[in-house]
Amino acid sequence: MKIYQGKGVYGAVAIGKISLFKKPEAAVKRVRIENTDGEKSRFEQAKAAAMDQLQEIYDKALREVGEANAAIFEIHRMMLDDDDYNESINSIIESQSVNAEYAVAVTADNFAEMFSAMDDAYMQARAADVRDISNRVINNLTGNSSVHAGTGERVIICAFDLAPSETVSLDKDRVLAFVTAHGSSNSHTAILARNMNIPAVIGAGDDFLNEVRDGCQAVVDGFTGEIFVDPDEDTCKKYLEKQRADEEKKRLLQELRGKENITLDGHRINIYTNIGSVGDIGKVLANDAGGIGLFRSEFLYLENSDFPTEEQQFAAYKKVLESMAGKKVIIRTLDIGADKQCDYFNLKKEENPALGYRAIRICLTRPDIFRTQLRALYRASVYGSLGIMFPMITSVSEVEKILEICEGVKGELRAQGMGYSEGIELGIMIETPAAAVISDRLAPLVDFFSVGTNDLTQYTLACDRQNPDIEQFVDTHHEAVLRLIEMSAENAHKHGAWIGICGELGADTELTERFLRMGIDELSVSPSFVLKVREAVSTLDLSK
Ligand code: PEP
Ligand code: MG
Repeated sequence: MKIYQGKGVYGAVAIGKISLFKKPEAAVKRVRIENTDGEKSRFEQAKAAAMDQLQEIYDKALREVGEANAAIFEIHRMMLDDDDYNESINSIIESQSVNAEYAVAVTADNFAEMFSAMDDAYMQARAADVRDISNRVINNLTGNSSVHAGTGERVIICAFDLAPSETVSLDKDRVLAFVTAHGSSNSHTAILARNMNIPAVIGAGDDFLNEVRDGCQAVVDGFTGEIFVDPDEDTCKKYLEKQRADEEKKRLLQELRGKENITLDGHRINIYTNIGSVGDIGKVLANDAGGIGLFRSEFLYLENSDFPTEEQQFAAYKKVLESMAGKKVIIRTLDIGADKQCDYFNLKKEENPALGYRAIRICLTRPDIFRTQLRALYRASVYGSLGIMFPMITSVSEVEKILEICEGVKGELRAQGMGYSEGIELGIMIETPAAAVISDRLAPLVDFFSVGTNDLTQYTLACDRQNPDIEQFVDTHHEAVLRLIEMSAENAHKHGAWIGICGELGADTELTERFLRMGIDELSVSPSFVLKVREAVSTLDLSK
């Protein structure tokens, strides 16, 4: 047995087999092959497996997110079967006597370049699709743990690091736990692990990744960050017990379902939840959240290989609103950029992406993208109680511009005879120090604030949330951050707006009392933290 130490980012225990997640690009090497026929038939087999996987994903997507969103996987099947694409791969294998992986990778590059050079925006976006299908075939050829496939045993995914786009593409039903050699606890990958309720450990180190093998048995303790590879019998027993105790604790918390979020002296607060996709709704309902305080709509974009259309977005937002049956649903507009990169946006590489072209800055400079999303949101608003919030705000003029665009979208819908709700609440995220400092001027413009403590902490403490080497300098309870939240709460209330917290700090029960005393009206947390925060609230007495 070998023990490795990382940092736990979601407390739970997993016991199972390791599956190494290799980035497909890293796995492709040019290898000289004598038996080209054999190589061609390897390609045929990998392609057939990819066809089956895509069919499975299509069926799953159809059930979970509807036909419009599922259609892309049908298109992928067609592209994979395209004659030119297949001919190119076979002729590279034959003419250069090379391995199938290499032939697929070269074909993917050539086709992607060809698509990118076309004038038509739709065809340009096919570049990402051809890379996607090719990666799938390469994964099948290399025997890489294809967690894209919909079947099989649940495994512990081990990776160098995972980008949010890779994390969302994993088949969640197959993931027992995540362990990454690198990564920081405030990254979106860590946040996604928490949202998915799966044990996760980051920063396990390069030795861990170099030494573990596919298929070996491991125990992951997401509480302590320990990973036991090839555990002995005693360790397995001990951790099975710990797993059972944890599940029992979670089961006991379930008794708080249906109860109010109320302190001993009668102070009430809303506890909402953060989600990243329509598929998370089950967890929201299972944990009895009062609403959705943050729907990270950018994951709709990350899950797609092209801009989701107005209809696709409308279907997704409508489904969330209907499923929540009148409970508040706050959808954040696109927050792409920084660590959330999407190929088809063709964003330039930046020196400091967290300080760069992201979120509202993209929306305000590419109004076509923004308006499509707003139209979908306004149209969906009639199906429930919608709040729309805008990320990365730093100035009054940005908010004024946003409000003007919203008015434009409403006018357009009215002219087209399309309905929308008059009761939509508009809010902004307080996640830059600038927004907190001028919150007195921002509050009169909006219905609510939602504090994004993940970014607010990064910008206030000047600590890149993606950089694990500086985590020791990130004091999550730093007084500067707490005072900015307090200041924003005072200013919100002075101007009749309400204020919530949707960053990870909202789930930190050591701060629940302080937040309540500041007058925070809502805490939006990962689904599995709702009942834990409810429990914390119920033990407080603010009259003392
Ligand atoms: C935040 O910054 O706290 C937040 C909720 O947004 P995200 O984590 O998606 O950047
Ligand atoms: Mg943020």
